[in-house]
Amino acid sequence: MTTAPDVSPPMQAGNRPLALFGGTFDPVHWGHLRVALDTANALKLTEVRLIPSKTPVHRKAPGASEADRLAMLRLAVAEDRSGTLAVDDRELRRDTPSYTVLTLQSLRAEFPARPLLWLIGVDAFQHLMSWYQWPQLFELAHFVVLNRPGYPVANVLSPALAPVWQARLAREPVALTDTTHGSLYLHTVAPQAVSATEIRNKIAAGAGDEALTSLLPPSVLTYIRAHQLYQPEHPPLAPQ
Ligand code: ATP
Repeated sequence: MTTAPDVSPPMQAGNRPLALFGGTFDPVHWGHLRVALDTANALKLTEVRLIPSKTPVHRKAPGASEADRLAMLRLAVAEDRSGTLAVDDRELRRDTPSYTVLTLQSLRAEFPARPLLWLIGVDAFQHLMSWYQWPQLFELAHFVVLNRPGYPVANVLSPALAPVWQARLAREPVALTDTTHGSLYLHTVAPQAVSATEIRNKIAAGAGDEALTSLLPPSVLTYIRAHQLYQPEHPPLAPQ
């Protein structure tokens, strides 16, 4: 069933939009950081919070611990000279699974009048209808859907999700700042052909630093090496 978009109250002066970018960040990589900064720049956002998820609800368990994922995210964000990026660890502090609706409810309680913008790659957005209480999400925030190589929007939206997309799609980004929630906006970012899976696989396969430096910030790579993260569970037996 498709519900008509509701009309949220007009924004008061000074209620700047707050952008949110959730993920496992296992580990955080240049793809995350570049799309977050590119989107901030294009939509004139001054604050993008990266929100590491606790218990993965929609995917298999991550490889690094919560503490390590958070530490790597903090190192990466510390390198952002623009001061746009920040880390918000509320999902790790909460004693429940990382349902986005709960995260947005807690942010909405804190910021009743700010537009909340949930940034999400199209690969993750295509599964929206499997999320806990998904229709409620549009009562709390806007969605900014980011393209990702290999996931053309027109091809990946299910027949059930396509009408939701059509009903809520905003053609102009002003919809994201004039109202506090309820719209969808497609933002085309420069393609970033990098994924955390690729990084984990490369490390497990014994890749040297030269194969990884273009994929993630140096401080994150140093952390991974120091804590021996993403090593294979069953390393190959040494030759006799
Ligand atoms: P994994 O490979 O483990 O699935 P990932 O690289 O997709 O990880 P996540 O931490 O799961 O990273 O992603 C967090 C968010 O960042 C998601 O919305 C995802 O779609 C988006 N994202 C990650 N990498 C890119 C990329 N290269 N381009 C655009 N969006 C991305």
